Amino acid sequence: MPRADTREVAELKQIKAEQPELATAVDMQLALVDVQRRVQGRVPLPWIQVDPAWLRSQQAAGRPLVRFEDIPLEWSDFRLTFRQTADILQRFEALERDDYRKIVAFGRDGNALEPIVRNWYEATSGVDATADPRARVPPDAPASIDQVLVLALRPFLARCAEALAQRTDLGAWSHGHCPFCGWEPDFAVITPSADRRLICGRCVAQWAFAPLTCPFCANEDRALITSFATRDGRYRVYACDVCRRYLKAYDARHATRPVMVAVDSIATLPLDAAAMQRGYVG
Ligand SMILES: [Zn+2]
Ligand SMILES: [Zn+2]
Repeated sequence: MPRADTREVAELKQIKAEQPELATAVDMQLALVDVQRRVQGRVPLPWIQVDPAWLRSQQAAGRPLVRFEDIPLEWSDFRLTFRQTADILQRFEALERDDYRKIVAFGRDGNALEPIVRNWYEATSGVDATADPRARVPPDAPASIDQVLVLALRPFLARCAEALAQRTDLGAWSHGHCPFCGWEPDFAVITPSADRRLICGRCVAQWAFAPLTCPFCANEDRALITSFATRDGRYRVYACDVCRRYLKAYDARHATRPVMVAVDSIATLPLDAAAMQRGYVG
């Protein structure tokens, strides 16, 4: 008997029924969600040993907490996830054929992928202040490898954020980047008490952030933040007139369900178009 759809899958199918123009985006998301859910079920919740003094010094310096060694990476499982993710992106034309060929070649060579992933994570997380963010990927790798790495690492990294979130006080964290993996937010949620929580685009952790400050450039001049909502009031965009970037949010104040990034990021694709039309970048 087929398994009942999860809430996420059911919501995605609903979007497809109501907005057929989003069908391709929904189908790609369904495929990605399926891969991620299967992997995440196999990844153990890691026990991350954190020295309280080190934790305080990392937080005080605005540096995140998950070190590469903490990620419960099982390499054959990661390689499979990496390959399946690239296959899906290619199938839905989110990856150029040439880029796809180069990217899967890295994954095929048993020893090539491990140092690439380590180097990319260290360069992009900022856990270690000495890592060079310019050397994130090998010179012969296409820029689109970022997208494959973000998605393939997510199930493993999400388990780290889950483990740490239970016992880390984020009260003093006021930065626009993720307190666990250092990546940027790619979505937000407005809570019933009208606070804003940012959601990491890599490990999906959430953290509180000032409602009208730009997380990308820290601009806090309200006159230079443009905000607009969808007609039903479900979603909102915050766009920054200083750095021209924008962030979408799910408004949970009158909602019947919690935020679901995999669903809400697809439901808001028309908002991306509207923001870009006004000259903002994602
Ligand atoms: Zn993160
Ligand atoms: Zn900004």
